[in-house]
Amino acid sequence: MHSSDLRALDSAHHLHPFTDFKALGEEGSRIVTHAEGVYIHDSEGHRILDGMAGLWCVNLGYGRAELVEAATAQLHELPYYNNFFKTTHPPAVKLAEKLCQLAPAHINHVFFTGSGSEANDTVLRMVRRYWALKGKPDKQWIISRENAYHGSTVAGMSLGGMAPMHAQGGPLVPAISHVRQPYWFGEGRDQSPEAFGRTCAEAIEARILELGEDNVAAFIAEPVQGAGGAIMPPASYWPAVKEVLAKYDILLVVDEVICGFGRLGEWFGSQHYDLEPDLMPIAKGLSSGYLPIGGVLVGDRVAETLIEEGGEFFHGFTYSGHPVCAAVALKNLEIMQAEGVVERVRDDLGPYLAERWMSLAEHPLVGEVRSLGLMGALELVADKTSRARFDKRLAAGNLCRDICFASGLVMRSVGDTMIIAPPLTITHHEIDELVSLARRALDETA
Ligand code: PLP
Repeated sequence: MHSSDLRALDSAHHLHPFTDFKALGEEGSRIVTHAEGVYIHDSEGHRILDGMAGLWCVNLGYGRAELVEAATAQLHELPYYNNFFKTTHPPAVKLAEKLCQLAPAHINHVFFTGSGSEANDTVLRMVRRYWALKGKPDKQWIISRENAYHGSTVAGMSLGGMAPMHAQGGPLVPAISHVRQPYWFGEGRDQSPEAFGRTCAEAIEARILELGEDNVAAFIAEPVQGAGGAIMPPASYWPAVKEVLAKYDILLVVDEVICGFGRLGEWFGSQHYDLEPDLMPIAKGLSSGYLPIGGVLVGDRVAETLIEEGGEFFHGFTYSGHPVCAAVALKNLEIMQAEGVVERVRDDLGPYLAERWMSLAEHPLVGEVRSLGLMGALELVADKTSRARFDKRLAAGNLCRDICFASGLVMRSVGDTMIIAPPLTITHHEIDELVSLARRALDETA
């Protein structure tokens, strides 16, 4: 079918996620047709460097034949069976074992889901169930952060702190409370980063006391906020948060949907910040995005209670641990181990990107440059000296959507922040290309 016909049909029938449907109908879509390595191709013949690994997920890059073969073999062997009640199948069992080997030592169980949002729905159920079983049913409140993203299901968006999402349909799940985020460049520049990190941890303690320590079940956060703007917290933040949670016996849920599987140069972002989460929702990089699969890694404290005292847990999905998705995820993790992908991000690619990315700090439009592992952000400013932001918060959006794409680079924007999170298989040469394409897009805007 010709691309103009496809585009017309898309506008006529397809409602895209996180999209202004009317504008989509008027402007039409870019049609991505195929991909290899770190490059996607569109129907107009452009080759575009995917600086976002799809949606932070294609960690091994595009076109990995081993993943296709794992899916094909499993489709022949057993395309579907469920894990309900007392049935299981080899891919789910092997993937569970592999995940527990890779996870920190206190994590020995996993509950599978089809996505990161479903993983966070599962977290919500598990956290409240845990405290009920512990004889503390009033421990219901979950503290999250403003501008957090934890998914699009009702529980995911309620746990998240995205104001525009709450404005459409509201945070429907009761007893979720949001505190300030450790976003120093955006909200904390009247203090030093270190002092601001502690201020944000104190805000959590203040909220616990306000809600009543006996009513607070858990704190949920990403190690580094991804969709919120690739926000790396000040070094003082996580140690202070850990202290507060331990003081009031509150569970720590670390959302690893983006930070897990090598993005920050460790298997899990928690390991970079020395966190010991009770629960870790995972998805995305688990299968390098080749097929949809997620889960919750459950620490011993919660698992033992759910197992020993819980009886039947009335929760699960048709596609929990889907055999084909599980087989692909397992192969993905095996490849990552065999190729030393995580170590390469930590020791080589992360430092290389940091050095090249930092060169953009000189640009007149850039107020701050951040990176950790293979995640990076540029804070755009209208005035470099005062670091004033743009009047219209769409500057980065236009830059990413129009100029970057046209010049051959996918970046993502959140307000005036531009983000990258390329495949973990990117080469030095491709990092150089990414940085020079980003610079060119900035130059065209300045
Ligand atoms: N949690 C985090 C931190 C995410 O970034 C996302 C998706 O971007 C989700 C949860 C939801 O995952 P999914 O889109 O697979 O439902």
